[in-house]
Amino acid sequence: MFAKKKSTKSFNHKVFLSSPTMHGEEFKYMKEAYDTNWMSTVGENINEVERIAAEKAGVKYAVALCNCTSALHLCCKLAGERLYGKPAISHGALEGKRVFCSDMTFDATLNPVVYEGGIPVFIDTERESWNMDPIALEKAFELYPDVKLVVCAELYGFPGRIDLIRDICHKHGALLIEDAAEAMGATFNGQQCGSFGDYAAISYNGNKIITGSSGGCLLTNDLEVANKARKWSTQAREYAPWYQHEEVGYNYRMSNVIAGVIRGQYKYLEEHIAQKKTIYNRYVEGLKGLPIKMNPIVDNTEPNYWLSALIIDKEAMCKQVRDDSEALYIPEHGKSCPTEILEAIASLNAEGRPIWKPMHMQPMYRLHECIGRNGTIRCRTNAYIAGGVNDVGADIFDRGLCLPSDNKMTPEEQDRIIKVIRMCFE
Ligand SMILES: *Cc1c(COP(=O)(O)O)cnc(C)c1O
Repeated sequence: MFAKKKSTKSFNHKVFLSSPTMHGEEFKYMKEAYDTNWMSTVGENINEVERIAAEKAGVKYAVALCNCTSALHLCCKLAGERLYGKPAISHGALEGKRVFCSDMTFDATLNPVVYEGGIPVFIDTERESWNMDPIALEKAFELYPDVKLVVCAELYGFPGRIDLIRDICHKHGALLIEDAAEAMGATFNGQQCGSFGDYAAISYNGNKIITGSSGGCLLTNDLEVANKARKWSTQAREYAPWYQHEEVGYNYRMSNVIAGVIRGQYKYLEEHIAQKKTIYNRYVEGLKGLPIKMNPIVDNTEPNYWLSALIIDKEAMCKQVRDDSEALYIPEHGKSCPTEILEAIASLNAEGRPIWKPMHMQPMYRLHECIGRNGTIRCRTNAYIAGGVNDVGADIFDRGLCLPSDNKMTPEEQDRIIKVIRMCFE
């Protein structure tokens, strides 16, 4: 064993992966809520967030909710009831039904499928886009023609073939839920992410491209859907002088204070995207010549560049093993691995992160099916055997990592991060 040269001086403040970036106007709208005493889940800020969110995404309606996970939950419930009818009171709307889901994503994409009793079946990732593979999705419909719902996320703000995914869904009479949590402001063929799904969700979580500290919206072109989501999100009260209930409700509405932050942030969405794009391009330039590739940009897409990520070429990977909680690697000249690079970045007091660990590799879903391009159904045990051959998600997870992508990172800080990454390959 030998140790590679390590950089000595670390940043005196942490450079985050992606943290909130405030501008001042957020506070003005928050204060307005306070001064006018609209300190609840009703008010001008909420109305404005719904108006702006719909306008920016190019959809008719937005429903402001406490986070994106709750938006996705309501999407699942809406889709389930439309497809399978209203369930018995204590049953989920997707009870016992298979639902095709993105595999390489944050688990919040598909947790709501499970809340509603659905069974996620994972669709492998496309190498060219790092998003759901349309060919694998076609295979999945061949195997399970009865499936009527697909949940698809856009990874790190870099859209995949969401157009094809939508067309395949409609060809098979299935509904599409688009999880655009990471992709607000990104486009495919000029069309905004969040406008492709029959139902879609966006996020204002603290690490997203704009934030309210928390919050999310459900997006739809269907007024009835918007009204139903709004009703369910406020405890499903019926129109009556007293608390009258015909169905189960939720407390999912957005706060008017948080809506003030989001309202102020929306003015900076384009600026944030431009900053993230500059960061991505600096990495492209700075890492030139190394045996790596940055996250792919699909033709006709304009990403929002939320998180810059890289993947190490197969030949340049040093030995690395991971179990369910730890990773080990063997340093090697001219080679590196995500664990080594993440350690190097951390030594500077900067934050990187492994790629989302694919859902089919998660202990929770080890018995769930995962469908790849060759059509074979794999569960966790044989996924490891297939790893690197058919299992695209496992391979990208193995070789990839997310880079510090914070708006407030200075060019000098980024240059030092680039330098320590370069040192990993010495
Ligand atoms: C952040 C995120 C969510 C969840 O958003 P919240 O607003 O935190 O609930 C869902 N899906 C993806 C892909 C995300 O990145």
